[in-house]
This record gives sequence, structure tokens and C-alpha cells, in this order.
Amino acid sequence: EALANQIAAGEVVERPASVVKELVENAIDAGSHKIVVRIVDSGLSLIEVTDDGSGIEKEDVTVALRRHATSKIKSSEDLFRIRTLGFRGEALPSIASVSELTIETSVAKEESGTKLIAKGGKITSLEPLAKRLGTKISVANLFYNTPARLKYIKSLQAELSHITDIINRLSLAHPEISFTLINEGRTFLQTAGNGDLRQVIAAIYGISSAKKMREIKAFDLDFEVSGYVSLPELTRANRNYITLLINGRFIKNFALNRAILEAYGNRIMVGRFPLAVISIKIDPHLADVNVHPTKQEVRLSKEAELMALIRKAVNSTLSEGVL
Ligand code: ADP
Ligand code: MG
Repeated sequence: EALANQIAAGEVVERPASVVKELVENAIDAGSHKIVVRIVDSGLSLIEVTDDGSGIEKEDVTVALRRHATSKIKSSEDLFRIRTLGFRGEALPSIASVSELTIETSVAKEESGTKLIAKGGKITSLEPLAKRLGTKISVANLFYNTPARLKYIKSLQAELSHITDIINRLSLAHPEISFTLINEGRTFLQTAGNGDLRQVIAAIYGISSAKKMREIKAFDLDFEVSGYVSLPELTRANRNYITLLINGRFIKNFALNRAILEAYGNRIMVGRFPLAVISIKIDPHLADVNVHPTKQEVRLSKEAELMALIRKAVNSTLSEGVL
């Protein structure tokens, strides 16, 4: 099982940013209102995620480190109705197998919390802890026992920007949650958690950019599309500033990106891209998220219909006030 975990780690935890993503998604799944992420050495020395979510019950803390021990799927039927972000029960065991992992957690209904320390996936300490609602997971010395993986991390600067990107996307997906990213003791990002998406956009892209974003909204029988897109005067040289969310999950989808660009048409120059945060609500039956362990690619039924709806939503906002 130790080997299986390390193999799975190769897929699930490719780099520090994937660890950040899995830990923060767990914090989101736990119903947190406030999530604080601390990073040292682009995550290689330390990734620490503190949340105020439901916590993990005493008897479940060691279970969480076992492979496929997800608390989030009760039946195979559930696999087709995935609403939570995690569902494979692979992340924690994988991360634990390639790091020194500490879990500090408490739940409301228990007298005390639990502190677990594991090294290379082996539990080295398990003791009670003064109660403090929620969970703090620290991942120290990532990839210390997988030198090949460590070697593949070439630039600390690039790793840090991957991490920032993940936190940005998750903040955009969850304006109702307050996110803080602290790098080497300095606050990189802080969102209010008051539900206001425009404020999150301002925190990430700056206030003047946020002022050049316009709201979009459209729906049909299958989809609901909402969010913000930039005025044609505000563009960037790459598509990284386009965030697509399906049922609260950040996804990559080439066709939907194209639909957005088609709506801008010749309002923007070739090679330039708008800023956009587009949230799509859809019956989970119409989106297959179970394609890859990192869960970013989504297979969509009725893709053409959704493209048309996005084109319409973006186009009608861009045309507003223009006679
Ligand atoms: P998954 O998210 O796919 O269920 P993980 O390996 O990411 O699997 O996590 C294993 C289990 O640990 C989760 O199902 C959940 O019960 C528990 N867990 C992990 N992180 C947290 C957290 N921050 N708060 C509460 N429970 C957590
Ligand atoms: Mg998870």
C-alpha cells in the first residue's frame, strides 16, 4: 500500500500547487468560511492550510490517510452526482507518502481534538489536542523521499505562480469564503468572504481592472451562466485570465474558451484575450468530472448548446449601451 500511495502521488501530487489545491479543496468541502494558506519555499519546505470547517472525528483521522477512504461517497450512485470537490480519497494518502504531514483537527461534538504526525506515510505520533474548531494540515519537506520528483521542480518562481493561480481560481469560485495566501510571511492575497465576486476580482486583478468588468447572465433549460467579463479595452496577452467554473469547480475547456472569444469577435485584436470569470450551473448528470485524477478536464454533454448560451450572454453584455 505504501508503494501504491507513492504511485498515486505521482498522479495526484505532481507539484506543490497540486498539494495546495487538494488541501484547500478539502477545506472547502468541510464547509469552511475562512481558509488561510501559508507557503515557504514555494511549498517545498512548507504548505500549511488552516480552516474553520467541520473538522475530522477522532476515529476518522487515521482512516483519512488510507487510500480510497473518502467520506464523501456513500454509494456508486453518488459517483454520478458529485457535488463535493474531492471524491476519490486519494489526496491525503498520496501527499502523506511523499512528505512529513501533520494534521491538527477538532470537531464540535468531541471534547478534545487530535494531532497526527506522519512521515513518508507512516504515522509517527497520534495524540489529543486542545480543542480548536476546524483543521490545520501542514505538509513539510514535500518530495523529500522522491528525489526524481524534486528534480523535476525546476524554478521556485514558477511553482509559486502555480500556487497563486490555484488560490486565485478557488477564490473566484468561492466569493463566500475568505481566502488568505501568505508567502514567506507576506500576505499575497486576501479576500473578504462576503460573497461579492467583483470584490474578489478586485483583490486578484486590481481595482481598476475590476471596474472594467461587466456582469453577464443567461440561462436556458439546461444551463445557468453568470459572472463577469472585461470590456474590450481590457485585454491580456494570454488566456490565463479566463476562469471557467462548472458547479463551483474550476475547469479547462477549449470549446467554451472559444465561445467567449467568438463573442468578442473583432472587438479585440487577434492574440489578445479578455478577463472573464464565468460560472456555469448545470445538472451534474450533464458533466463528467471523473475523467482524470486532477479533475480539471470536464466532458460536457450539450457542449454546443452551452457555447451558444455563453456567446449570447457575453455578446449581449458587450453590446449594451451601444446603438
Ligand atoms: P477526498 O477529498 O477525495 O474524500 P482526501 O484524501 O482528500 O479524499 O481526504 C480524505 C478524507 O479526509 C476526506 O474524505 C475527509 O473526510 C477528511 N478531510 C481531509 N481534509 C479535511 C479538512 N480540511 N476538514 C475536514 N475533513 C477533512
Ligand atoms: Mg480531497
